[in-house]
Amino acid sequence: MYKKTKEGFIIGRIAHGEDLLQGILKVAKKENITLGRVEAIGALQRATISYYYQDIKKYDSITFDEPMEIISLLGNISIKDGEPMVHAHVSLGNSKGQLFGGHLASESIVFACEFMLFPLTGEKFERRLDEQTGLFLWDL
Ligand code: ZN
Repeated sequence: MYKKTKEGFIIGRIAHGEDLLQGILKVAKKENITLGRVEAIGALQRATISYYYQDIKKYDSITFDEPMEIISLLGNISIKDGEPMVHAHVSLGNSKGQLFGGHLASESIVFACEFMLFPLTGEKFERRLDEQTGLFLWDL
């Protein structure tokens, strides 16, 4: 659920029980966002983040099977394979106040989440495979 401000910003919540990454992506697709910034705070019931091993050019995932605070989520939306793609990083806090972080992956289930999405209208950035890093980066 979300509202659009008169400036065109999208402010809302990702529903309890929804996958955080998929929830943001759903909004981006519905609003046809081709370039934008996203930020969020809240809490997750459980979380999965990824870490990119630069030497072998592969992601590995880290799962937290416990409630975590979303201390901050910062990301962007651009186009990959003709579709909006959300690239987001999160800082997560546990019950001891310890901080963990990484690349937000699917299987991060929302407890409560407030997000703000700032589309850059008229702009379209596409991702293409960058051989040097093995990552799909903006083709500028
Ligand atoms: Zn990343």
